[in-house]
Amino acid sequence: MENKSEFKSPVIKSAEFITSAGKPSEYPPEDLPEIAFAGRSNVGKSTLVNCLVNRNKLVKTSKTPGRTQRINFFEVNKYLRFVDLPGYGYAKVSKQMRGQWENMIETYLLSRKNLKALVWIIDIRRDPAEFEYNFGLWLNENNIPYINILTKADKLSGTKQRNHKQNIVKKMGAEYSDFVIASGLKKTGRDEIWSRILNLTGATND
Ligand code: GDP
Repeated sequence: MENKSEFKSPVIKSAEFITSAGKPSEYPPEDLPEIAFAGRSNVGKSTLVNCLVNRNKLVKTSKTPGRTQRINFFEVNKYLRFVDLPGYGYAKVSKQMRGQWENMIETYLLSRKNLKALVWIIDIRRDPAEFEYNFGLWLNENNIPYINILTKADKLSGTKQRNHKQNIVKKMGAEYSDFVIASGLKKTGRDEIWSRILNLTGATND
């Protein structure tokens, strides 16, 4: 595996659902560092978050991709929150609904003072769409730090994983080390993702 992290993920002592919100007045207080998760519907976001917190069903995997979703807040180990943003870009929803989701995500990302980083999840097998390239630019313009994850890596051989990663890195105008190869299903990349999360939140590994 190419992620040769020496870092060991923290022991998960607690992981609890706190609340779900559609607008800022429904968000919990800004008293804990937050890490948000975003990606296209069906990309494997719920599976990845569940893998990070060692719970099978904390975040419900979406059997109905594209359903109207809210922002879900989870408290992890009492020292940080994971924030599950609604999946975007599902082909079957109308432009108007898509606009509402984008608005919900954008409002959260731009207004949240305790947001430390966005974990942005891409399927390693897919070519990044123009939207994803533009979203990267938008995050940079707005100084929102992000951690790029290429998930579902178990669906490709090691060589193909590296080739696809090279291709995505090139298309996104990024650095090779900006992206973490992972599989929520097989729990690969977990230590490396946790290492990046704790680096950005300043939380300690205990
Ligand atoms: P979400 O809509 O982004 O939350 O995606 P889910 O976590 O619900 O996953 C969507 C589908 O992809 C489900 O059928 C999962 O079992 C599958 N899936 C998720 N992560 C992985 C992964 O790392 N590898 C493989 N092979 N399948 C995955």
